[in-house]
Amino acid sequence: MSDRKVAVVTGTSSGIGLHTAVGLARRDIRVVATMRDTGRAGQLLDTAGKDGVELAVRELDVTDRDARLRCLDEVVAEFGTIDILVNNAGISVAGSLEQLDDAALQKQFEVNFLGVAALTRQALGPMRRAGSGRIVTVTSNGGVIGEPFLDAYCASKFAVEGLMQSLAPVAAQFGIAVSVVEPAAVETNIVQNTDLRCLGTDPDGQYGPLTEKFLRFVAEGFGTPQSPEDAAAVVVEAATSDTPRFRWQTSEAAVESVGLSLRDMDGSTVVSATSDILR
Ligand code: NAP
Repeated sequence: MSDRKVAVVTGTSSGIGLHTAVGLARRDIRVVATMRDTGRAGQLLDTAGKDGVELAVRELDVTDRDARLRCLDEVVAEFGTIDILVNNAGISVAGSLEQLDDAALQKQFEVNFLGVAALTRQALGPMRRAGSGRIVTVTSNGGVIGEPFLDAYCASKFAVEGLMQSLAPVAAQFGIAVSVVEPAAVETNIVQNTDLRCLGTDPDGQYGPLTEKFLRFVAEGFGTPQSPEDAAAVVVEAATSDTPRFRWQTSEAAVESVGLSLRDMDGSTVVSATSDILR
């Protein structure tokens, strides 16, 4: 059996996940790069090829229970173990609560929370039996700051941060380090792919101007985003560091906004700052 470590990364067809998979492979880790549609593996394989590294591509929709079970079982059968799980796959559904029906909330939580929880639960077994492991989840600065019109997205990221922070001390008893990585704006497909429920519903005609301000904020916020390569480098560091820690930010912008919230004991600084988005 090889003594090279084995990593499973979700959502590697693009963005941070793609560069995390390649970055881990560059550290001589055997990477199983998963994605919902392996027909979209072209950019990942090109990037890996240019870097002179190889990785295994496997199909995985993190919302598909049977696929999750099958995928991790097959990784353990083929590679012997799972040393690192990177929960990267994520989507965003935008809308203020009155614009979000239960199906919209469910869609958001299926990927960003329930998929992460189920996959992590499954990876814990082999890691616990090995007495070591790393579970790294890409959350967001939106995992500590609730932002207008990102109610569902931020709720899912807060939830997953709560899950991981609760898990961390227990997993540590088995030699498993649990971390969250919090990017701020990163130049990926996530904005184009956002499910804009806020455009579909305008209760009593009162949300239109606010929705426009939100959309302008998103466009402006992504004027100076971090590159996905730079954000992924922090995910790789979180997954491989000799001194693992719970919380990592990927940029100064992320440090600033996460710090703002963690220091804001009565919540007024954050609500005042986020209210500015709607002025
Ligand atoms: P991205 O380029 O849109 O990547 C998201 C990835 O998740 C894609 O590969 C997508 O695959 C995959 N995905 C979506 N639903 C999935 C499912 N059900 N099963 C498996 N994979 C699925 O965006 P990104 O910015 O790199 O996002 C990566 C992570 O960073 C997310 O968790 C996101 O919330 C977080 N994040 C991003 C930013 C940002 O500004 N970009 C900021 C903070 C946090 P398909 O190609 O099949 O759609």
